Amino acid sequence: MAANLTTNIKYLPGVGPKRAELLQKELQISTVGDLIYYFPFKYVDRSKVYKVADLVGETAYVQVIGRLVKIEEIGDKRSKRLVALLTDGTGVLELVWFKGAKWVMQNLKKNVDYLVFGKPTVFNGRYTIAHPELEELSQAKSILQCPLQAAYNTSERLKNSNLNSKTIFKLQQEAAKLVYGKLEETLPAYMLEKHKLLGINEALKQIHFPDTAQLLQKAQYRLKFDELFYLQLGYIKQRSFRQSKVNGHVFGTVGNTFNLFFHKYLPFELTGAQKRVIKEIRRDMGSGKQMNRLLQGDVGSGKTLVALMCMLIAVDNGYQACLMAPTEILATQHYISLSAMLANMPVEISLLTGSTKKSQRNDIHQGLLSGKINLLIGTHALLEDIVQFQNLGLVVIDEQQRFGVMQRARLWEKNNDPPHVLVMTATPIPRTLAMTAYGDLEVSVIDELPPGRKPIKTVHYMENRRNAVYGLMREQIKLGRQVYVVYPLIKESEKMENLRDLEEGYQSITELFPPPQYVTVIVHGQMKPDEKEKAMQLFVKGKAHIMVATTVIEVGVNVPNASVMVIESAERFGLSQLHQLRGRVGRGADESFCVLLSSVKLSNESRKRLETMVATNDGFEIAEADLLLRGPGDIEGTQQSGIPFDFKIANLSRDAQLLQYVRNIAEDIIEDDPLLTNSKNAVLVKRLTDIASQKLDFSRIS
Ligand code: ADP
Ligand code: MG
Repeated sequence: MAANLTTNIKYLPGVGPKRAELLQKELQISTVGDLIYYFPFKYVDRSKVYKVADLVGETAYVQVIGRLVKIEEIGDKRSKRLVALLTDGTGVLELVWFKGAKWVMQNLKKNVDYLVFGKPTVFNGRYTIAHPELEELSQAKSILQCPLQAAYNTSERLKNSNLNSKTIFKLQQEAAKLVYGKLEETLPAYMLEKHKLLGINEALKQIHFPDTAQLLQKAQYRLKFDELFYLQLGYIKQRSFRQSKVNGHVFGTVGNTFNLFFHKYLPFELTGAQKRVIKEIRRDMGSGKQMNRLLQGDVGSGKTLVALMCMLIAVDNGYQACLMAPTEILATQHYISLSAMLANMPVEISLLTGSTKKSQRNDIHQGLLSGKINLLIGTHALLEDIVQFQNLGLVVIDEQQRFGVMQRARLWEKNNDPPHVLVMTATPIPRTLAMTAYGDLEVSVIDELPPGRKPIKTVHYMENRRNAVYGLMREQIKLGRQVYVVYPLIKESEKMENLRDLEEGYQSITELFPPPQYVTVIVHGQMKPDEKEKAMQLFVKGKAHIMVATTVIEVGVNVPNASVMVIESAERFGLSQLHQLRGRVGRGADESFCVLLSSVKLSNESRKRLETMVATNDGFEIAEADLLLRGPGDIEGTQQSGIPFDFKIANLSRDAQLLQYVRNIAEDIIEDDPLLTNSKNAVLVKRLTDIASQKLDFSRIS
């Protein structure tokens, strides 16, 4: 059979239509190429053969060669099992099957030599292997020659159809016969040489059938290189294209409104990091190229002020600017605090959210078109087609974790010439993730908190120490401070049944902290916007002592007088969420506290998360820990980002160095040959095109 990578998997010997369907469903393998790019998850050394007499203790997996001398079914109904005895001249090994006896009976032959592989245990003074892998010795040559045998992940369903790791290995052998040696090289020759990489044929062969550990390592390196390099090359080529082809509005001057604000209304001195970041952004916006910048900063580092000052630069140059926040609460809060800061300035600012009244909405639409409104703050409502600007110059997206790539793209479409885009993260994300999810953006980092902040004291209490927590709450309220109590809810879908915990919590808090001495408000996503707003305002103005809430307050909410954050069932939150929540306190100059309440029984991972929270206040550290604990696919926001994080072989937590390395290589290549027209780079263009045709088109995404 002539075959190439795109050949349907069902034509591969040993597959057929039924298995093909399963492979497609369970492992997304539909072609021979998919199979070859389905890499092993581990390797087992199959070169060493033990003698039965040499087995010691209950060790790891071993291999034994011997003759099958007895096969029988023993036990009664419930303890029925199949037992076989194997002897190699030095001793007797017992093999046991509790399931699948029929198949074993049909296939095993007495008085034949077998290669047996499995994990031995000692039972009744005899070594026993339950459910061993068996191969007739005459067929086992290829296994014994293989110091590292590939093992593949499969699923229950696949195993039930006998598509286990071993079968997949055999299919890989079939595929190898067909296509190896004929695969087109995916990197240019000069790169292979310069970076000392295995050729693609050799790499793909060694990844499945490694000759030595060293070659396996080289193969893994080559394939990771491919995967990460092309991702970065795509981003950097895209960025370079944008910079050379897409014009940006030129914000040439820093004018009256900026200066007036800076000299007269700025409520505090900017931190060094804020100043540096504003400079970076100014430079971008004055360059004549469209800005696409990611602003990273820890919770409370003062990103909003940076956004405001950049928006004022837009106004100074005759443009409008908008700020989009992920929740109504946050948008409203931004609107209130920004309008207060701009109260005496000649700048028109409006708020547009899902609950803006129709008449007001019409006014806003008019004001945006006529240019009367300079700054618009809002939620997703900004994305609606009906919202049109006279000349939108800058878009700021706050707390990016909540927005997907697609939504960013829609903002881009609001103008003929794309506006400058500033994306701000809710909590820091690891560098590797930033390079992956936002690889075509420039990055600015605010790595300094405003002065005078005291670190937040974080403690982890089991539920049985609740009373101590209530004591702390009383103490702090007595000092004039305020308290948050947060309950977990299933994200976005705040269903009624999930509100029960919250409502019960509210009940018990009002019993423990009875009115009128204490005022407690409740806030959750199912409330009507005006009720929610009323409760928020009671708390913001200091009239309520306690706010019982769900994670609707997670991002952005800013009440500097609040000094205690109590998180109920803290083990149910992710790390970045916990860090976000904690960031709601510690915004004033007074000491503040975060209490993580959890049940007594904790999974290892939950325990590690809570330990991390207690150990550090640094959002960048927490982000790295999160990546290690959960892997990139599970980091908040990445699922929605639309970026495929399921790398076939690279691993963002382990391959950070390689990622940076290949990014630099990609940068050098594009600098040298911006449009990749040089013939030596033809392979790169082809490969990029092939990859792009398999994926969504992200090319027009800011
Ligand atoms: P985040 O980066 O989490 O969005 P915010 O922009 O909400 O942080 O700022 C957190 C708090 O710090 C706000 O109360 C803000 O007014 C205050 N703040 C911002 N910049 C400074 C500064 N340079 N000095 C003092 N306080 C600041
Ligand atoms: Mg913020």
